[in-house]
Amino acid sequence: MIIELVNTGTELLLGQIVNTNAPFLAARLNELGFSVLYQTTVGDNRERMKNVLKTALERANIVITSGGLGPTQGDITKEVTASLLNKPMYLHEASAEQIQRFFTEHRLCMTDNNLRQAMMPEGAQVIENTCGTAPGVIVEQEATGKVIINLPGPPHELAAMFEKSIVTYLTKRFGVQGAIVSRVLRTYGLGESALEERIKKYISAQSNPTLALLARNGEIHVRITARAASETESVQLINELEGQIQPLLNEYIFGIDEETMEKSVGSLLLARKLTIALAESCTGGLVTSRITDVPGSSQYLLGSIVCYSNTVKTRYVGVPEKIIASKGAVSQETAECMAQGIKERFQTSIGVGITGIAGPDGATENKPVGLVYIAIDGSAGKVCYEHYFKGTRLDIKHRTALATLNHVRH
Ligand code: ATP
Ligand code: MG
Repeated sequence: MIIELVNTGTELLLGQIVNTNAPFLAARLNELGFSVLYQTTVGDNRERMKNVLKTALERANIVITSGGLGPTQGDITKEVTASLLNKPMYLHEASAEQIQRFFTEHRLCMTDNNLRQAMMPEGAQVIENTCGTAPGVIVEQEATGKVIINLPGPPHELAAMFEKSIVTYLTKRFGVQGAIVSRVLRTYGLGESALEERIKKYISAQSNPTLALLARNGEIHVRITARAASETESVQLINELEGQIQPLLNEYIFGIDEETMEKSVGSLLLARKLTIALAESCTGGLVTSRITDVPGSSQYLLGSIVCYSNTVKTRYVGVPEKIIASKGAVSQETAECMAQGIKERFQTSIGVGITGIAGPDGATENKPVGLVYIAIDGSAGKVCYEHYFKGTRLDIKHRTALATLNHVRH
C-alpha cells in the first residue's frame, strides 16, 4: 500500500517552523509496513493545495495531510479535500458540541469561527482530537477506494490522533502490511567512497534488504532495511546481510543504531576497568562534554582541564615551558606532555592531550588551520596522532572530538 504525505502551511515554506510531522509519520508508517514514496509541502493556497492533493491521490492509495484544520481563514485543508472529492461540507453536530465543551472546560471564550472546525465533508469519518479542538477527518473516494486523511498540524495533536485512531483504521481497512525493520551500522575512519568500494557487491545486488550509506557529522552510517511478513523474519534477513558485510568493515564499526562514539568508548573503558582524564586546548572541553553525555560516565571519567592558554598548560598540566618555546603550543611534543601531565596529576589509566589550530586565524607557514595533535598516554606508553582537518572552526572542533574518542577506543 502506497501512502503519500502532504504537509500544509505557509510557515513551513517560509522556513519559520521545522517540519517534524513528516519524519514522524514516515517513520511510523514504514514501521507498519506502508510504503511512503513522496512527501510534499504546500502553502495555505487553495489552488496549489488542490493540485498537490490531486497529484498525490493519482499516485498513492492513501494521502495523509497535516495542518490547516484550525478555525482561521488560512485553515483550508478539509475544504480543499472536500472540493477535490466533490463532497459538500456540513456542520457535524457532535464535533460542534465537543468544541463548545472544550472551551467551557478550559474557561475560554469561543468565537463563531471556531465552529468552522466542526464543518465536515459529507460522508467523512470524523476523528476525535483528544489534545485540541480540531477533529481529524477520513474521506474516501468511492469510485477508487482511495482515501484522504486530514490530521491537525500541532505535532502532539497529530501524534496522539495517529496512535489512537489512525493506526487502527489503516490496519483494519488496508490489512496488516508486514514489517519493515532497519538497523544502522555506525562507522568512522573510512571515507564514503572507500566504504562503498568495500561493500559494493552487496550494494549493487540489493533488493531486500536494501543498503544505504549516509554521511552524518563525520561518521558514515550503513543502513540495512528489510521487509518481511513479520518482524522476526525481517530481523533474520538483516542479521544475514550484516553477517556478510560486518567482516569487511569490522575495525570501522563502532556502534549499532543509537550507540554513539562516546557510548562505545564508555562501554570499553568500563569493561577494561580503565579511567581517563583529558587536557583539552583547541576543543575547549568538547570531548569531555561528549563523554559526560553518557549516564554513568563518572565511573571512568575523573576530570579534565581546559588548558587554553600556555600558562595553564605549564602551570596546571605540567607542560615544560621550554617545550612550548622550542616546539610551539601546537606540536606533537606539547600534546604528549599534556597527556602525560594530566594522567599523572589525575592518577588515571589514560591521559589525553589535544592541541591544534581551529582557525580561522593562528596559522603559520608550516602549521595550517586544521592541524591538530591528539596524544594518548595509556598503559602501552604514549602515541600521538597528527591530523589535518578541513572546515570551519566548529567543524574542526567537532572532527577533533570525534577523532579523539575514536583514538581512545583503539
Ligand atoms: P490549529 O488549530 O492550531 O490552527 P491546524 O491543524 O490548523 O492547527 P496549522 O495551523 O497548519 O494546523 O499549524 C498549527 C501549528 O502547528 C503551526 O503553527 C506549527 O507550530 C505546528 N505545525 C504545523 N505543521 C507542522 C509540521 N509539519 N511540523 C511541525 N509543526 C507543525
Ligand atoms: Mg491553523
